[in-house]
Amino acid sequence: MIIIGGGLSGLALADRLVREGRDWLLVEARDRFGGRITGLQHDGASFDLGPAWFWPGQPRIAALAKRFDIDIFEQYADGATCYENTDGSVQRVTVSSAMAGSLRLAGGMQSLVDGLVAGLDPARLSLKTPVTAIAREENGIAVTIESGETLTARHVVIAVPPRIAASISFDPPLPDAAQRALTTIPTWMGAMAKFVAVYERPFWREAGLSGDAMSRHGPMIEIHDASTMSGTPGALFGFLGIPAMHRMTLADQLTDACLTQFGRLFGEAALTPVATHLADWAREPFTATEADHQPLAGHPAYGPPSALSDLWGGTLQFAVTETAPEHGGFTEGALAVADVVRLQDNNAAT
Ligand SMILES: Cc1cc2nc3c(=O)[nH]c(=O)nc-3n(C[C@H](O)[C@H](O)[C@H](O)COP(=O)(O)OP(=O)(O)OC[C@H]3O[C@@H](n4cnc5c(N)ncnc54)[C@H](O)[C@@H]3O)c2cc1C
Repeated sequence: MIIIGGGLSGLALADRLVREGRDWLLVEARDRFGGRITGLQHDGASFDLGPAWFWPGQPRIAALAKRFDIDIFEQYADGATCYENTDGSVQRVTVSSAMAGSLRLAGGMQSLVDGLVAGLDPARLSLKTPVTAIAREENGIAVTIESGETLTARHVVIAVPPRIAASISFDPPLPDAAQRALTTIPTWMGAMAKFVAVYERPFWREAGLSGDAMSRHGPMIEIHDASTMSGTPGALFGFLGIPAMHRMTLADQLTDACLTQFGRLFGEAALTPVATHLADWAREPFTATEADHQPLAGHPAYGPPSALSDLWGGTLQFAVTETAPEHGGFTEGALAVADVVRLQDNNAAT
């Protein structure tokens, strides 16, 4: 089996194939594994630039954390929330934090990726290997990578966001309904940008603030504490409220604007972080397409689309969080979808 995509879905599937004694290869377009999971590395800690939370009722993430001995802790939520008005004035309000009860992983979500990769045979993993074409042949499926090289297998699983998969060339072409499904399923968080600032200590906590803020001024609209489990180093992160298209022209000014906003909300100490990073997922060609630049009104009703089932006699499958049978869009969905990939009956090579 060839797995296309080394995000959480693809890695979890490879992990399952190892446990089931199957033959597989995984090809990943980027120069790193994890896909939407990545972190700002500082002083041995990883600060999530993609997903940070999971929730009670998501057993697969919790089980994987347990397997890799990764501590789970609750999102910091003690103290007042800041509200920033359109004119930039700030009010402190004592309300329960919107994210109270959300769970985080020591070492960030990256620790799951590291744990999975560590258990996989490096000879079967290939970075910087974007797939450009997939063709059904008499004895299997030929997968062409950007260099022009071709790999073959009897089964192929595409663990890539549907809209990104739509730009792969299929021979024979996928049925219209399948191609339509690929282009219409939005990439969860594909329009999002996240700004992270790391501080020597979480000074806002000492001032009775949770690190939560909601803003009608921006550039960030929703802000939370992103500190390590011990609290040191401390960190804050915010989701930007500026639409993806406008961010493209503002890129250079955004870091300054975000820091200035942290300063308005949390005081002067916020202006001198030890590290910052702005992750604009809309600009990541292996995550988002132009169609994803439009912010989503809510969480789409993801699920396995019937148009993507039974393709090429069941030898071509899609398995990414957006096609998960449950928890679609979430990291839990990425693990759930790896569980339901159908494996061939015998243990034939790839
Ligand atoms: C900012 C942000 C915040 C989020 N917050 C949360 C959260 O708090 N909690 C939560 O549960 N979820 C959250 N999510 C969603 C979460 O990140 C995803 O559910 C999960 O990471 C999806 O994993 P995946 O493997 O299914 O897809 P991806 O991570 O997108 O992996 C797909 C992989 O395929 C690769 N690829 C693409 N094209 C090709 C190609 N042609 N050839 C080879 N490889 C290719 C990509 O490089 C990538 O590695 C967030 C996402 C973002 C962006």
